[in-house]
Amino acid sequence: MKKCPKCGKAIDDEMVICPSCGERLQDSKLQNTEFISIHLIRWLLLISIIIPVVGFIISLSLKNKYPLVSKMITKFSTFGVALLAMLFLLGAICYIAMTLSGVSFL
Ligand SMILES: [Zn+2]
Repeated sequence: MKKCPKCGKAIDDEMVICPSCGERLQDSKLQNTEFISIHLIRWLLLISIIIPVVGFIISLSLKNKYPLVSKMITKFSTFGVALLAMLFLLGAICYIAMTLSGVSFL
């Protein structure tokens, strides 16, 4: 048994919302997992944006000197763009899931 921080009534450990006052009972362990996953998604998004942008810049600057290397980097960057699209989709799904479960994303 745990206590509601708002009204002080005893509640079952599994309860997420206090039945007497409606206060959302925050599980610190769950919060940490959410916190990490949100940061992970943000970092992955950032990286997947940076990789194609940097890749395209490098491939353009190497185009005349090293056409083969430039082509390889362009391919890699295209893969990065595909990854980015997938991550955006994943992020959108996570966002919807979190919103539906009552977790504020930002
Ligand atoms: Zn309460």
